[in-house]
Amino acid sequence: MAVGRDYYEVLGVPRNATEEEIKRAFRKLAFQYHPDHNRESGAEERFKEISEAYQVLFDAEKRANYDRYGRAEGIQGFPDFGFGGLGDIFESFFGFGGSPFGAATAQRAPQRGSDLRAYITLSFEEAVFGCSKEIEVERVENCSSCRGLGTEPGTSPQTCPECQGTGQVRRVRQSFFGRFTHVASCPRCSGSGTIITNPCRHCRGRGRVKVKKKLVVDIPAGVDDSYTMILNGEGDVGLYGGRPGDLYASLSVKPSKIFHREGSDIFYELPINFAQAALGDEVEVPSLDGRMKLDIPPGTQNGRPFRLKGKGIANANGRGKGDEVVIVRVVTPERLDKKQKRLFQELAEMLPKAKQP
Ligand SMILES: [Zn+2]
Ligand SMILES: [Zn+2]
Repeated sequence: MAVGRDYYEVLGVPRNATEEEIKRAFRKLAFQYHPDHNRESGAEERFKEISEAYQVLFDAEKRANYDRYGRAEGIQGFPDFGFGGLGDIFESFFGFGGSPFGAATAQRAPQRGSDLRAYITLSFEEAVFGCSKEIEVERVENCSSCRGLGTEPGTSPQTCPECQGTGQVRRVRQSFFGRFTHVASCPRCSGSGTIITNPCRHCRGRGRVKVKKKLVVDIPAGVDDSYTMILNGEGDVGLYGGRPGDLYASLSVKPSKIFHREGSDIFYELPINFAQAALGDEVEVPSLDGRMKLDIPPGTQNGRPFRLKGKGIANANGRGKGDEVVIVRVVTPERLDKKQKRLFQELAEMLPKAKQP
């Protein structure tokens, strides 16, 4: 198409043409260049150009804008118009909707299968170390009995008598221009070109069945709550050779009773008493690799963190590990026996009072 050609020039009308003149010019040219009539090269392009010019000039508001500003962004070039607008033109001028440019075979085009979603609950340990989980999904698959063909095994589909296997039917319409041929998808075979006279008993001719399928999902180490795994091709089967959909597995991870998790770091709260805090001690703390020794130095304050490098969780996306952070919690005794009370009183007399800021 000659992009930018003046719309008035395209329709061959003066700039002050009336609506009636525009309409008449369009009918004449559309008839001349309609792709069903005119098989010359360039006729279809010309027809699109004419349609575009008409869409703008026949609409008072669009025409006023065009007169003032010229071509607007977005209506330059035919595809931006969409076929909806053209459909209207065909409806009003030719007595039918839709496009004459060959969308009738669309029903046979490969269609990708639907994506599915599954939910998997993991224990803290399963998420940390990774695991294999068996899940059950309900999905659409090709019928195993007819291998998706829809015909009873041993029989084959018949050529559709309505369209002789082409999947398309031509409809001739009478309009004030003369006869027009409209190509549509065959209603008898839905455009497939074949009909099934002996439908498969297993799937009742549909070719596809809903099945419950067990899948084993390999969960990598380090996944976390609300992590989603994409299992390519494990969704519904595609149509007409289309790819299958994907399965999105959403993970939810139960919290640990021992650790608090933040990303790939884990936090452990270590309770110690006054004496351990004041004098120091060697204690054992839990870790992902089992129990570990930890030195508490004399004079350890409440809330002090000890970072154990590389003792956290592996990163699910590859290399590296988080840390384990042990946080000291000094526990005040709630009940003292006589002897303990006397010793604390002695200490109280000797210790300086804690300073206030
Ligand atoms: Zn079947
Ligand atoms: Zn047919």
